[in-house]
Amino acid sequence: MRVSTTCADCGCLVDRGVRMVRCGTEGCCCEELPTKELLDELARHITAAFAARDVGSFAELLAPDVRWGDDDAPNRCRSRADVIATFQRLLADGVGGEVTSTRTGAAGVLCRLRVHWPEPDLRERRGHLFHLYRVRSEQIVEIVPYGERTEAEAALAKWS
Ligand SMILES: [Zn+2]
Ligand SMILES: [Zn+2]
Repeated sequence: MRVSTTCADCGCLVDRGVRMVRCGTEGCCCEELPTKELLDELARHITAAFAARDVGSFAELLAPDVRWGDDDAPNRCRSRADVIATFQRLLADGVGGEVTSTRTGAAGVLCRLRVHWPEPDLRERRGHLFHLYRVRSEQIVEIVPYGERTEAEAALAKWS
């Protein structure tokens, strides 16, 4: 179901918190909303970076103060350098991941990941998970993991 509406104040065409068409006016009041074009580009870039195991390419998309993990999580990340170090550690441990599908929404880009664990005893772990990459001002400001699709998609739809 498409529910696009035109912003009455500036003219941007908005679909559930994502700008489908920019108004191009100086007084645009929807500048904070991500554009569909930007989110699609980010989704392609993330998918390619995972496929190439290119941490540097992925890091280009991150805000300097990007967050990943709750405050009480032992491996929480609070900066671009933290995220790079975490991904490099996972790759060094032989953990691989590929993006099998992406969706875009008001919150940013939702990726479904297939994770490859190196050790046989770790194969019991969940092979799929979702990462919501929250986008603000054209950068990823937060990485939020979800186990379940419904929960992940609900978060994707919310601009918060
Ligand atoms: Zn506008
Ligand atoms: Zn507007």
